[in-house]
Amino acid sequence: MADGGDRQTPSNRSLIRFTGKISNSRSETPAEKNVDWIACHDTLTELPNRRFLDSVCAQAMTDQREEAYAVFSIDLDGFKKVNDLLGHDHGDAVLKTVAQRLSSLFPREHVFRLGGDEFVVLARRTGNPDLAVLANRIVTVIGKPFTFNGVAVDLGASVGFALFPENGDDLSQVIRHSDCAMYVAKKQGRNLVKPFVPSMQDELAKRIRMEANLRAAIRKAEIVPYYQPLVDLKTNRIIGFEALARWKTASGEFIPPNEFIPVAEEAGLIVELTDQLLRHACTDALSWPSEIVLSFNLSPIQLSDRLLGLRILKIWGDVGLPAHRVELEVTESAIIQDAVTARIVLDDLVNAGVGIALDDFGTGYSSLSQLSNYRFDKIKIDRSFVSSFETDDKQDKVIRAIIALGVGLGVTITAEGIEEESQLQRLQDLGCDIGQGYLLGRPAPAEKLATGQASARILQRG
Ligand code: C2E
Ligand code: CA
Ligand code: CA
Repeated sequence: MADGGDRQTPSNRSLIRFTGKISNSRSETPAEKNVDWIACHDTLTELPNRRFLDSVCAQAMTDQREEAYAVFSIDLDGFKKVNDLLGHDHGDAVLKTVAQRLSSLFPREHVFRLGGDEFVVLARRTGNPDLAVLANRIVTVIGKPFTFNGVAVDLGASVGFALFPENGDDLSQVIRHSDCAMYVAKKQGRNLVKPFVPSMQDELAKRIRMEANLRAAIRKAEIVPYYQPLVDLKTNRIIGFEALARWKTASGEFIPPNEFIPVAEEAGLIVELTDQLLRHACTDALSWPSEIVLSFNLSPIQLSDRLLGLRILKIWGDVGLPAHRVELEVTESAIIQDAVTARIVLDDLVNAGVGIALDDFGTGYSSLSQLSNYRFDKIKIDRSFVSSFETDDKQDKVIRAIIALGVGLGVTITAEGIEEESQLQRLQDLGCDIGQGYLLGRPAPAEKLATGQASARILQRG
């Protein structure tokens, strides 16, 4: 097909000046479009791509015109779930719909797809528009109900925005800053809008440093499991250990798992980190008496990974630890987030003989019906109940109800965070099966397990 005069390329000045005259010739298939068009457009949504945006930025800066711009960086919330759960056809349909919805708010040529589920809107400012209102409109339009092939898709968007010339010397820098604001919005939850402020760069820089250090720490196997005893409250004997990840930096500082596990998840490092930790923990567990169980935490995000079961089974096979000696701890939110995949992953593991514990019970929002949909071997009552139940009658009732639920369902109940002798006594009186907490033993490195305070404390009680 001949190269139509209205098909713009980055080298075409009328477009680069951003005058709004771009034809996307939507009746043509991508194959019919010329090579230049394809090079600077995303063929799925037919929006201009990153290359196009780069050329727009370069040109805007050489034009010497005193234009003012607003840049909106948009990242979809929940897109990965759509792709993983419903397949790439749904994912593609979502991206096309988002492209259309953004184009209903802004001229189509001002909307760019940078790849994945990332979009940018580059809007010329005239007058004094309320940009927060505009950004919230982006969130609203993307969050409108959407159904594909009869399946309702739940979508959201995180939006950051920045201004030229106020927030940067050139447009490229302003785009980086609006990206930075989007990243901060994303970290704080779904469907949020954040304007760029310079202090966000420190946060981003800190996060980039943390990610780089974490990558190096994983490469050097510097993150290791510590073990905290799980004690049978009827016999006072240790029946297992929970592996808890510990990152000791070169300067001797400990970074807690609550800080680095979320970074590992976001940076796509969690699979590698988990494989490494699990392999390490299983190898340690081989030297324990055969009745002692290893309890291992899985992140919510991992339960949406269909290959998880296979990888875990391979590690057990490699190390030679039988599956029945391992218990995996999952949280309620992990199961709710992606119920279909979670079931597939858990079923694979349960069929292999592994036990499943529901961690942090009482802090999530799962209903009892969800509880009965899965077969858990153990429920772990969250620390927050144990720390307050002696003084708070309601918490005491909750603990009693959970223990009764355990008896009814035939599920073992563990109480976490036991720090006081009186808490232990009360839990034993109520018939709680298993206890865990600083009173019974703090997390300790593998080499300290046999003679460490954990065992000493239990032996002394026993
Ligand atoms: P969690 O699974 O609920 O683990 C129990 C946490 O409570 C641990 O914190 C443990 O050190 C702490 N703890 C135990 N007994 C007591 C007590 O008596 N009092 C108090 N105040 N705290 C107690 P830690 O090791 O900092 O781990 C925090 C969370 O990080 C864990 O919570 C778990 O969700 C996550 N985590 C730890 N290791 C891993 C891992 O290897 N993989 C994944 N995905 N998550 C991990
Ligand atoms: Ca746990
Ligand atoms: Ca817990």
